[in-house]
Amino acid sequence: MKKLARQTKVIATIGPATESEEMLKLLIKEGVDICRLNMAHAEYEWIESVTKRIRKVGKLLNREPAIMMDVKGPEIRTGYLNKELEIKKNDALDLVFVAQPEPPSVDGVWQIEVNYDKLPDHINAGDTVLLDNGLIPLSVIDSAPQKIRCKVLQDATLKSRRHVNLPGIETGLPSLTEKDRRDSLVGIQCQHDYFALSFTRDADSVDLFRRFLRENGSDAQIIAKIEDQKGVRNIEEIIKAADALMVARGDLGIECAFEDLPIIQRKAVGSCLANGRPIIVATHMLESMIGSPVPTRAEVSDVANAVNEGADCIMLSGETTTGKYPIECMKMLNRIASRMEAEIQPGLTEELNLFRPKAKMLRSAALLSMKIEHSGVLVFTRSGDLAAKLGALRPNGAPLFAFTDVPGLHRRLRLIWGIEPFLIDFSNDPEVTILDAIKKLQQDGWVEKGDQLVTVTNVFAHDKVVESIQLREVNS
Ligand code: PGA
Ligand code: MN
Repeated sequence: MKKLARQTKVIATIGPATESEEMLKLLIKEGVDICRLNMAHAEYEWIESVTKRIRKVGKLLNREPAIMMDVKGPEIRTGYLNKELEIKKNDALDLVFVAQPEPPSVDGVWQIEVNYDKLPDHINAGDTVLLDNGLIPLSVIDSAPQKIRCKVLQDATLKSRRHVNLPGIETGLPSLTEKDRRDSLVGIQCQHDYFALSFTRDADSVDLFRRFLRENGSDAQIIAKIEDQKGVRNIEEIIKAADALMVARGDLGIECAFEDLPIIQRKAVGSCLANGRPIIVATHMLESMIGSPVPTRAEVSDVANAVNEGADCIMLSGETTTGKYPIECMKMLNRIASRMEAEIQPGLTEELNLFRPKAKMLRSAALLSMKIEHSGVLVFTRSGDLAAKLGALRPNGAPLFAFTDVPGLHRRLRLIWGIEPFLIDFSNDPEVTILDAIKKLQQDGWVEKGDQLVTVTNVFAHDKVVESIQLREVNS
């Protein structure tokens, strides 16, 4: 029985460094599970063409990655600039709400555009505003309806369209903006498998987004990105409302104290495991490899730690969008994840609550497979639920083969720890479906004669259909 190269899954964000057919091929060969398209920068035409390319190359290589559209949610940015601006410590700076491509200095005060004109309602003197991922701290001196007067706290270069963070401040921005709706319609058109919702702050925003997707004919799943203090406070209700969670450490590390980050990550992974929700650890995993062919030792440990904690998925951002070594990054994650996984003692997650009897059977099936050499688990799923629960048990070492007849679900299941998904037709006769699945596993080189498969499936017992766990030997 061939083992999975790694059980922890990998998301790569696609950008100029990886958008070509040739690079996508290499990424898929290195086992990328999900391609992420970040709507902070993407044009619609690009989304459409890159989606087609990913799908085409995936089919060609018989390994279709899922596609995730990352919508930006209530994100605030500074305006477009014709050229970079040098600002100095103690400079006065007004945040204004009209375009300033060449920010003038009015009476010695810089006029800098931000894209949210209700900001003054939510900000007070003494608050902190952070531009460009925390690189440029500002202290608020006065907040008036047309402008927010600030003092610059550090020398800096302000570039075009920089991120604005407001630690601990509730901005009153809607959780789903007009841009998000427009972007999502393009993603729906392209049949994207996942939508990641940036700055998810409560369960209501997930519900709202889900209604929007369903009303527009999409059955895609929602990944809630936890990026600020409110999201952290409401994490339990968000985990229950969403289909998966992302610890978005980039923004989280600005919105929260740095030293809280590892704690938030560990708790988020633990809660997701207990709820059977896939969990993604994202951002800066191999940041230094944007410009260097080898990671820092601290990055290696960070990746290994996420794997050890039990993340379903780890994510690359700048490393694969504009970095110089995207394929080396994939190889590096493969090496670190598989090495760490080999260290983890086989065992099943104790905390996971399984409610349906059929789901409870998974625990026995997984246990059996871990006890039998050369064996894996085989499940059949139309909703994805059984596969998600099986992965959530974390049966380390046993390959988990999930078969579905629902096109699209076979891509979506790539997010889940340890699951290798397949698309086949299901027969009315469960026996025929099992034999077809085993044949497919053989054809694709996963199993060989003598291997054992622990199968959770329906069987006919006279006129009744019953759930069963069976042990099947591959015999041809
Ligand atoms: P972003 O989200 O890359 O869309 O900002 C991830 C993060 O903040 O970590
Ligand atoms: Mn973010």
